[in-house]
Amino acid sequence: MSEYHFQTEVSQLLDIIIHSLYSHREIFLRELISNSSDALDKLKYLTLTDEKHKNIKFEPRIDISFDGKDHKTLTVSDTGIGMNRQDLIEQLGTIARSGTKNFLDQLTGDVKKDSSLIGRFGVGFYSSFMVADKVEVISRKAGEEEAFRWISDGKESFSVEEASRENHGTTVILHLNEDGKEFANRWEIESIVKKYSNHIPFPIFLEYEETKYEGKGDKQREKKERKVEQINTASALWKRPKSELTDEDYNEFYKIISHDTEDPLFYIHTHAEGTIEYTTLFYIPKKAPFDMYYPDYKPGVKLYIKRVFITDDEKELLPTYLRFVRGIIDSEDLPLNVSREMLQQNRVMVNIRTASVKKLLGEFQSLSESNPDKYAEFIGEYNRPLKEGLYSDFTNRETLLELVRFKSTERDGYVSLAEYKERMKDDQKAIYYITGDREENLRNSPLLEAYKSRGIEVLIMDDDIDEIVMPTVGKYRDLEFKSVNRSSAADDLKTEKDKKREKEIKPIIQKIKKALGDKVKDVKASTRLNDSPACIVADENDPTIKLQQILKAMGQKDMPEFKPILEINPNHEIVGKLMNTDDDALIDDVSHLLLEQALLVEGCELKKPSDFIKRLNRIMVKAI
Ligand code: ADP
Repeated sequence: MSEYHFQTEVSQLLDIIIHSLYSHREIFLRELISNSSDALDKLKYLTLTDEKHKNIKFEPRIDISFDGKDHKTLTVSDTGIGMNRQDLIEQLGTIARSGTKNFLDQLTGDVKKDSSLIGRFGVGFYSSFMVADKVEVISRKAGEEEAFRWISDGKESFSVEEASRENHGTTVILHLNEDGKEFANRWEIESIVKKYSNHIPFPIFLEYEETKYEGKGDKQREKKERKVEQINTASALWKRPKSELTDEDYNEFYKIISHDTEDPLFYIHTHAEGTIEYTTLFYIPKKAPFDMYYPDYKPGVKLYIKRVFITDDEKELLPTYLRFVRGIIDSEDLPLNVSREMLQQNRVMVNIRTASVKKLLGEFQSLSESNPDKYAEFIGEYNRPLKEGLYSDFTNRETLLELVRFKSTERDGYVSLAEYKERMKDDQKAIYYITGDREENLRNSPLLEAYKSRGIEVLIMDDDIDEIVMPTVGKYRDLEFKSVNRSSAADDLKTEKDKKREKEIKPIIQKIKKALGDKVKDVKASTRLNDSPACIVADENDPTIKLQQILKAMGQKDMPEFKPILEINPNHEIVGKLMNTDDDALIDDVSHLLLEQALLVEGCELKKPSDFIKRLNRIMVKAI
């Protein structure tokens, strides 16, 4: 017998599951059945496609039994793919998913918050320890001779030893604790299975003891009889007609395939018939999956072919930006032995994928019209991935532009582009937006002053992805997008009076430019400022300062430095006073301070703060 320590993350997770999900502890059974169902799926696939597994006798079933007497136990057994020693140690002793540590760090110890977070992670096998003080797993891998027993009390360690098992598959024996004893009961088990696992596509049998009475009067005798009864419908839920299914059926099935503890936000079930025949059942989780922003996130859509499970590890079934979608695609037309590489080019698969994206986006759009509150919830979680779609899914860009939402100077919360267009001024030529770091900084940015005074709405883009996405979007209907952070956006605002003033202050602009030298790309008179004396913008085709920071953070090292353009408010008192002085040292200090304050307002760091302080002090001495 060998003893092993759980990976630290497993111990932590065990602790959290036990505390945060205690009031839903019956879900342990759903999790075990779900694992068995996955194991059956995997073996079924191999017996149909893999030479080595073709001769295996495959009789898919899940068996539940219990001992309700003294040492109460509950046993879940399957005829699935099974695990060998290595598998047991790795799969039931570590968590291989990326971001696990990060996820665990987010947990607060607040039971309520944690229980909703843990749903996004998926609880799985370890939930057994909510109801058991010892768990045994006896497993034999299909195609192998040896069997092994894994045992643990769910604290710090587990052990693995050789064991025997007649056939391939896995048996999980729970030694129930005080809180788990209630589950060693026929009615309890039956009702949980009906509720959570009715529609998994394999039969679940329950073995129980029935007491019968024989004879009459004095001769009556008690006779115990063991019975085995199938307790679920065992029909693949997604293949059933929609009319036969209730919301509850759908929601429980969602929990089986996603391991989420909460109901989904909504679901979309489609039976397509015609040139290609397939069924899709998609779910949108209420909360975004915890690993949505990790490069090696776990995909949420499973592919079936004629009800045979093919893969749950294929990221290309839907475009990356829809990676939060959970569910099933089941095709009637794909060949069972379709290979990974073939899958992505397969005409049938491409058609299903294209139609599925259209369907999903269409449903999102209907939701935005029919149920704005629910849509707001949806956007709260998934606005960002949809923006990724703007960048990557050219064919659906128009629909995506209707779906995404933005913050705005006109409203709290989010607005759609359609609303923006509706509110536009008659002579307004473009959709204006401002990008940058923090919403509050952006709302108070001097760049917005001229728009505010003219009553023009500006979209506030504080998501770092906006910087990358927006310049690629082009147009919304017939309207161009213009970044307020760039030099040309304000040209639209220029009046005759502005042009005259620009000429007047030209000499001082020249002086500032000379003082700043190569610290700036150019110095110009501004049309966008009201109260502030200066601001910085990016030249038309240069990345904004913020984007430069993002690219640097992403590891782009050899990027040239793009210098900002300094814009000066021609009507500001400082400019007026500068025109009337010959003090070159003063002009030099003021020029630098104008640039430095404009950088600070944008949230940029100054290269030499000490120089800034010296200048400021010199000016203060003169002023006092
Ligand atoms: P998840 O199911 O989310 O991967 P679990 O902690 O429930 O997480 O299970 C971990 C792994 O252990 C599974 O991915 C699977 O490889 C293996 N496993 C669990 N139960 C079984 C089973 N009944 N048969 C075969 N493998 C299993």
